Amino acid sequence: MTEARAAAVSLARRLKEAGHVALFAGGCVRDRLLGKTPKDYDIATSATPGQVMRIFPGSNEVGAHFGVVIAKLDGHHVEIATFRTDGSYHDGRRPATVTFSTPEEDAQRRDFTINGLFEDPASGELIDHVGGRADLNARILRAIGTPADRFAEDSLRLLRAVRFAVTLGFDIDPATWAAMVQHADGLARISPERIREEFSRILVLPDRARGLGLLLDSGLIRHFLPEVLPLIGCEQPPEWHPEGDVYTHTRIMLEMLGDHAPLELCLAVLLHDIAKPPTRTFDAEAGRIRFNGHDALGATMAGDILRRLRYSNDVIESVSFIVSRHMQFMHVQQMRVSKLKRFMAAPTFPLEIELHRVDCGSSNGFTDNLDFVLAKRDEFSAAPLIPPPLVTGRDLIALGQSPGPRFKELLENVQTEQLEGRLTDRGTALAWVKERI
Ligand code: ATP
Ligand code: MG
Repeated sequence: MTEARAAAVSLARRLKEAGHVALFAGGCVRDRLLGKTPKDYDIATSATPGQVMRIFPGSNEVGAHFGVVIAKLDGHHVEIATFRTDGSYHDGRRPATVTFSTPEEDAQRRDFTINGLFEDPASGELIDHVGGRADLNARILRAIGTPADRFAEDSLRLLRAVRFAVTLGFDIDPATWAAMVQHADGLARISPERIREEFSRILVLPDRARGLGLLLDSGLIRHFLPEVLPLIGCEQPPEWHPEGDVYTHTRIMLEMLGDHAPLELCLAVLLHDIAKPPTRTFDAEAGRIRFNGHDALGATMAGDILRRLRYSNDVIESVSFIVSRHMQFMHVQQMRVSKLKRFMAAPTFPLEIELHRVDCGSSNGFTDNLDFVLAKRDEFSAAPLIPPPLVTGRDLIALGQSPGPRFKELLENVQTEQLEGRLTDRGTALAWVKERI
């Protein structure tokens, strides 16, 4: 038994000893049946929040009228929620009231059958009021009750449905899917922050390409990332892109990323060609399609999109930067050493290599630029790409210079000489600078 489970079992036992019903609920029951280690444990109980607080003094009560208490044991946090029935939903986001009730009713207010299971912590016995066991076995994601009502109540469930289906590799039950399509517009009522959280969790999954497909097919993406829609049917020159349109190209790249690709990389791949539709022109002379400037405009668009979704500044900057530079890999073999080293010194460079790998891998299959940067990375690996400067601003001031554009240029030039290997010691570097003052 994991430590987290032992802690949860022990908390449930204390509730039971105090005369209450206490069951494991939701994700932890689902995950155990699937043979996965649950991320965390949730307990559903007949004890009221007040009673739970008295049994576990020092716990935190969260969202007081929702009746959830977070108890801690041996460093593990367990959510303890009173069995409840949600009152009516007015805003498509949360119930106006909740009343404490029975396990049967508590199961009914949960989102999907596989999330509506209970388990007796002591015996491990399954308590299934919603047919969740059968759906788990059949690998089906199905809304509890009437799907249309459930999505109308809480529009966040639309994205949760996609996330659970993709995480688990489950099919979505046809009636549940039809209701999702029908109620997709409800997503407009959900805050960008909550959308972003779910979207990010979908995008980092190994099967993120299926996730994107479901977000498109359901109509959900229209409400938070409509810029992706024109990628579909955006034709590209077949000699560079035999795989097809920009959407197909992007989707294959998402598939090619590793299972643990970081969020920034997944977002950069999704958005790297986002400006192809608005920059598309036909070069009549060359007889081919062009997307001039799609990297620069793409970086701007990526920034706008990610800001709208309230991503952190770090994520926004990294992703826009990666998008802005993705075409530069075409020129790496012609770059001077100093330029190449500066290019490679960016903190995002490892992610950029990976984007470039899947960019080529999903289209023309060229690997010469990739092989080149990988070889250079080895070649340069013994020393820092940007070594400590031979000459600093302080030296220039000592030589009577004052900060300004010329000052900056001198420092950059002397660094270039150093990166090119033409200046290797301070004495010569100082002499080189003095000659140019
Ligand atoms: P995860 O592994 O992502 O944590 P989980 O099933 O534990 O999966 P949570 O978001 O932690 O998901 O929620 C715990 C349980 O609460 C769910 O299993 C489900 O029963 C219920 N639940 C959570 N969010 C909703 C919702 N929006 N509508 C209905 N029930 C919900
Ligand atoms: Mg959970």
